[in-house]
Amino acid sequence: MEHLPDFQVQRPASIAEAVKLRAEAADSRYLAGGTDMVVNIRRGIEQPRTLVDLTAIAELEAIETDGHGLTIGAAVTLDTLARHEVVRRDYAAVAEAAGAVAGPTHRRYGTVGGNLCLDTRCLYYNQSEWWRRSNAYCLKKAGETCHVAPGGKICFATFSGDLAPALLVHGAEVELTGVGGTRRIPLAELYRDDGMDHLTLEAGELLTAVRLPSESAGVKSGYAKSRIRGAIDFPLAGVAVALGQENGRITSLRVALTAVNPSPRMVDGTDKLNGKPLDDISLDELREMVRTAAKPMRTTTVPPWYRRRVVGVLARRLAARLAGR
Ligand code: SF4
Repeated sequence: MEHLPDFQVQRPASIAEAVKLRAEAADSRYLAGGTDMVVNIRRGIEQPRTLVDLTAIAELEAIETDGHGLTIGAAVTLDTLARHEVVRRDYAAVAEAAGAVAGPTHRRYGTVGGNLCLDTRCLYYNQSEWWRRSNAYCLKKAGETCHVAPGGKICFATFSGDLAPALLVHGAEVELTGVGGTRRIPLAELYRDDGMDHLTLEAGELLTAVRLPSESAGVKSGYAKSRIRGAIDFPLAGVAVALGQENGRITSLRVALTAVNPSPRMVDGTDKLNGKPLDDISLDELREMVRTAAKPMRTTTVPPWYRRRVVGVLARRLAARLAGR
C-alpha cells in the first residue's frame, strides 16, 4: 500500500475525551505529529480505521516547572524542547537528543510522546506492502519467520527513539492516562525487551507527560548518535551520559543506550567507577560496559558488530567531553 487508505479523524479537545474516543473505537490509534505513524499507514504497517488527533489538546503542550522538577507535555514538539531555555540549562542531554532527531521539519511536527512511543524498526519490516508481501512478511506482522533470526520466535526490531536515553539518565517518569485513571511510572518501565510489543501501555492508554526531577537538574549530561545521513536519520546507535564529579573523581555516572536493542536501556555497573578519576582506564572500562549492554541484530543496513563498536566509542567520547578532557 503506497497511498493513504480511508480512515476517520477525531479531534478531541481534552485528554479525557481522547481516551474515551480511543476506547470506543477498537481499530483506532493516537496521532500527534504523524512523522512516523503516517508513513506506517501509507506502507500498510498500521491500518487504523480511526485516528484520534491530539493536536487540539492544549494541556498536552505545556512545559512547566515547580519546586520538584520539570513537567513536559507529550505534545510538545521536539523543536520546542531542543530550544527550551530551562531544558538546555538543566537537562542538556534532553535538549541535545531532541535536537538530534531526524531533520528540522520532522522536529517541527514530531512530539515528545511520539518519540517515546516510536514503534521498533527493522530492515525487513519498515518496507512497502508489496516488498513485505514478496518476502512472505515476517513474524512481527502477518508472517511466520523472522528474517533476522530465522530459527527463533522472537522479534529483534530495534527501538530508535533519541529522546528516551537522555530522559533515562535524568531519572524521568512518565504520566499515563487510560479509562481506568492516571498513573505515573519510571520511564524505564514503559519498555519491555520485545521488538514485537515493546511498550507496556495498557490498551488505549495515552502518554500525557514526562516528569524530570529537580535532583538531576544541572548534572552534566549529553547525547551522541551515529547515523548514516548526518542531517536526517534514525540513530544506528545512540548514547546519553550524565556525569557527576567532585575533586576530579566520579560521584555518579548514568549511561543509557538507544538503537542497539529492542528497548532503550540503562547500562548496568557504571557505579563501579564511582570514586575513581575519569582517566583513560575508567573510560576504557565504560566503553566495554556499553559494548556488553548493546545487543544489536541485523535490523539495519549496517552490521551489528559495527554498531556495538560505535556505541562504545560514542559513550567514551561523550563522557570525556563532559569531563572537559
Ligand atoms: Fe520481522 Fe525479525 Fe525484523 Fe522482527 S526482527 S521485524 S520479526 S524480521
